[in-house]
Amino acid sequence: MSSILSRREFLKFVSIAAFFTFTKDSLKAATIPHVVVIGGGFSGATCAKYLKMWGGSSVKVTIVEKNSLYVSPILSNLVLNNSKTINDLTFNYTTYSSKYGINMVHKEVVGINSDSKLLTLGDNSTLSYDKLVIASGIDFIKTNDYDITKIPHAWQAGEQTTLLKNQIDSMKNGDTFVMTIPKAPYRCPPGPYERACVVSDYLKNTKGYSNCKVIVLDENSKIIVEENTFSSVFANNGVDYRPNSVVTYVDDSAKSVVYEENGIDSITLAADVLNVIPNQKAASTVFLAGVNSGNWADINVLNYESNIKKDIHIIGDSQGSSQPKAGHIGNSEAKVCADAILREFNNLQPYSSPKTNSACYSPTSSNEASWLTAVYKYDSNTKTMVSANTQVYPAAGSPSSSNYRKMFLWSGNLFSDTFS
Ligand SMILES: Cc1cc2nc3c(=O)[nH]c(=O)nc-3n(C[C@H](O)[C@H](O)[C@H](O)COP(=O)(O)OP(=O)(O)OC[C@H]3O[C@@H](n4cnc5c(N)ncnc54)[C@H](O)[C@@H]3O)c2cc1C
Repeated sequence: MSSILSRREFLKFVSIAAFFTFTKDSLKAATIPHVVVIGGGFSGATCAKYLKMWGGSSVKVTIVEKNSLYVSPILSNLVLNNSKTINDLTFNYTTYSSKYGINMVHKEVVGINSDSKLLTLGDNSTLSYDKLVIASGIDFIKTNDYDITKIPHAWQAGEQTTLLKNQIDSMKNGDTFVMTIPKAPYRCPPGPYERACVVSDYLKNTKGYSNCKVIVLDENSKIIVEENTFSSVFANNGVDYRPNSVVTYVDDSAKSVVYEENGIDSITLAADVLNVIPNQKAASTVFLAGVNSGNWADINVLNYESNIKKDIHIIGDSQGSSQPKAGHIGNSEAKVCADAILREFNNLQPYSSPKTNSACYSPTSSNEASWLTAVYKYDSNTKTMVSANTQVYPAAGSPSSSNYRKMFLWSGNLFSDTFS
């Protein structure tokens, strides 16, 4: 006899199973579980979409997102050199939410009670959940209380990107641009190096400013990814790269930064444009829920559930696994999480060998880009995600105009898989 059930047998099986579920726990079967996702970025929007695509009417899904529009940080360095506009990177949720039947609530989550499974929103209203998915991105650890409208980080895209762009556009030949790179882990490992390449290329080759200085203060001991690519662009563009540089103070009126080089001297460096990308931690919602272990959320990578509190899942940049903090892999984690939640609603275990994928394209000028990619698989011995490839990994490609074109194909696919 074939091991594949006929349609008639399958329907009979489903109705018997449904009968037992109903008689065993009639109240539970009658209630449609409610999954609330905090954050409609790369990880949250993907998770909500796939929960509805795979779960249909068996699950109710709400996204609580404080903004009505999402601006992608991916490709946002291209706004700085006029290759893209903020508008090109902006997504709304109107078609997306009606297409999948996702309930959108545009409010900020200000409180999480994991005992009563209740969220408090900015207007003091409440929202209950059966499962909570925290997909709220990152928060910053600033050295001191300086004004980020004067010293933008531009590490969350939108107003911050425009601020930095306008400051760069007001630079004159001979001015100095200083940027700082936080200690890893942080959002998008190649991103800050990519920015130094784009800005130095823009000043030198587009604006024709041969006397501008671009100084990069990196808290890490070396360029942490694509070292050959970035160091060769830095050498070509005359970027002054200073590793082991730990920022200790930022002065927003003097536009200067105090930093320690190699743990010794305290050096003050003034700039015409100062772009401090602070050290990072999980979003505040992770701390509100009490699911942080240090700066990030401690999770089980089979289902992204917190190891501290049940029924709270954390995906994207806030999660503290061995995987990088990036949008492409956040989209990948979201699918693993959505699948595991739906399995749990059907009394099934999470899939035991999940794989995730990360990809970053880095523009290095207005017409060339490099790339970096890695695949991760679950290792049951260590219960962590490890590199899925025995070859040299992650794999990377050097800057070229062909990669620049492919960057838009890749990002177009990712944007549409997330927001369409
Ligand atoms: C310059 C740059 C280049 C990059 N390039 C790449 C790349 O090539 N490839 C790649 O994979 N990644 C890249 N990234 C990284 C990528 O953008 C992030 O990793 C990704 O956005 C993280 O997704 P997320 O869903 O975790 O968080 P986010 O995209 O930040 O989404 C979080 C959402 O949660 C909402 N939110 C937060 N708190 C609350 C609250 N309390 N209540 C309600 N809503 C809340 C926010 O408004 C936000 O919309 C880049 C980043 C930068 C800055």
